[in-house]
This record gives sequence, structure tokens and C-alpha cells, in this order.
Amino acid sequence: MSTPSVVVVGAVNVDLVVTAPRLPRPGETVVGPAVGRHGGGKGANAAVAAARAGAHVRYVGAVGDDDFGRDALAELRAEGIGVADVAVRPGVATGVALIVVDESGENQIAVGAGANDRVTAGDVRAAIEAALPDLGCVLVSTEIPAAAVRAAVEIAAGEGIPCVLNPAPVTPVVADLLKYGPLLTPNAGELATLSEAVRNERPLGADVQVQARGLSEHTGAAVVVTLGGDGVLVVAPDSATEHLPPRPATVRDTTGAGDTFNGVLAARLAAGEALVPAVRVANAAAALSVAAVGARDGMPDEPAIRAALD
Ligand code: ATP
Repeated sequence: MSTPSVVVVGAVNVDLVVTAPRLPRPGETVVGPAVGRHGGGKGANAAVAAARAGAHVRYVGAVGDDDFGRDALAELRAEGIGVADVAVRPGVATGVALIVVDESGENQIAVGAGANDRVTAGDVRAAIEAALPDLGCVLVSTEIPAAAVRAAVEIAAGEGIPCVLNPAPVTPVVADLLKYGPLLTPNAGELATLSEAVRNERPLGADVQVQARGLSEHTGAAVVVTLGGDGVLVVAPDSATEHLPPRPATVRDTTGAGDTFNGVLAARLAAGEALVPAVRVANAAAALSVAAVGARDGMPDEPAIRAALD
């Protein structure tokens, strides 16, 4: 396989994490003993996962001109990720995620987007053009402005570069971009929402396999559904649906499992690996990631992933 090069486009946040006996109900305060601060944001987390899996990663996003932003960039640099394409926007705060994790590892998250709302299509275009011709995959998630998401998917399609679109969350621009045939990686909830967007063709019902097949027929591309503790479903045109069962996991915190999955998947696709083998590796990496608290702490490096697959 060739040296994988990945451009990751998305949000970078500082995650403030409280571990509590249970998640708060509306209007309720819960108190837990532990408080942690971690690098976060779906895009930046996935970039870390891709870099640890061995990819050369360029990250595209925006931070504020503040201590959180400087720390966030330092953390990405320490992972070997190129951050020359990250814009530093004065007068706006770096994004923050407020996370509560309960004793079962379930989480609840509120995000202040801050500088993530200032990522532009121009930022994305410049980064992708600079990464050509070694670019093997573009990975984009949707916690940034629609114009930036659109630029990533359109430019990748125009250049013939594989594009993984993690529709988290499902924003209106995602439905507009389905015609470019990105590889979609929704979880079950996001898949249901996307199915609504394409159902004018025919009703898809509530079954995950039927929804994924319908979506794949609509895009003409693969749909890879992450099912949490139930593993992954792979639906691709002209091939049978495959369910990959979950890998054994010690669950302490599922925050970032999806980001790990997406980052490793993009790294393996960029290296030229076929879809199902790449998904198998990402499934193993994501299972390892849930063993530690914080989105990035449990993300495995390449030897750890290889050991888990042996
Ligand atoms: P998040 O937004 O919290 O990052 P997500 O909803 O996008 O998550 P999930 O479907 O929860 O993603 O998890 C992604 C992948 O992580 C799963 O498809 C699976 O490969 C792995 N995973 C998650 N939870 C477990 C678990 N309990 N056991 C084994 N693997 C898991």
C-alpha cells in the first residue's frame, strides 16, 4: 500500500468532561467527583485517530486566538498532524464541548461552536489543493459551516479523491451532497434522519438494513452504519450487506468511538485498502478506543490495532 495522505475537515474543540453517577435530567444538577479537560471536536479527534493509524494528516479547521486554541493546535502537532491549514480567528472563542459521562459510559454533550463556525470554503479549497497529488482520502464531518462541508465533498468528487462524509450531525447540506456519492458513515439515528431526506423516492421503513440499502442506491456509493456496541453494517452497491460484529471491548467512555472509526477508516482507504477490510480495522480500533475516558485517550496506534486484529 502507498503512503496514506488524508485531509480531515471539521471541528476542533476543548472537551470539559464531568464523570457523574448518572446523566442529568432537564433542570437537574448532578455532581460527580471527576473533572477532565481533553482535546475534542469530531474532526480533530478523527484526525488524531487517522494519524495514530499511520496516515499523513492535514487538518482543516479554525480556532480562536486564545489559550484553548493554542493548546488544541499544540496537541494536534504533537500527534504529527499538519496544522498549517487551521485558521486562527481573532475575537472568537475556540469551540468548547461540555460532556457528562455516567457510570455505564453513556454520555451527554453540549457544544459551543465558537471558531468552528468560521471555517470557510476557501480554507478547505486551499488545503485540498495543497495536498494534491498525494491525497488518498478527504474526511469531513458536519460541525462546521455548510459551505465548508460542501467545498470538501465537491472538490474531492471533482478530483476523483475518495471522500468519507460523517453526517454528524445531519445538517441540511448533507442531503444536497448525496449526489456526489460520498461514502457515508452515519450511526443508526443519523441514518434514520437521512432516510427521511431520500424517502420521496419510496418509503424505507424503520429497518436499518433497508434504510442503508436505500441510501446506498440513492448515492450510488457505500453506506457504513456504526451501530455502537452492535458493530458495523456495510452496504455497498453491487455487493451483499455485511454485518461486522463488535470487537471485544472494555467500555469506560464511548465518547469519540465514532471519530476513531472514521479516522481509521479514512486512513486505511487512503492507503488503498478495500472497503470491508478497512471497515474491519476501523471496527477494531473503535472498540479499543472506548476503554479510556476522553475521546482521544483510548485511540490506538498502529501496533495496538494490529495486535487487536491478530
Ligand atoms: P460518537 O458520536 O460517540 O463518537 P457514534 O454514534 O458516531 O459515536 P458508535 O456507533 O457509538 O458511533 O460507535 C462507533 C463504532 O465504535 C462502532 O461501530 C464500533 O465499531 C465501536 N464501538 C462503539 N461501542 C462499542 C462497544 N461497546 N463495543 C465494541 N465496539 C464499540
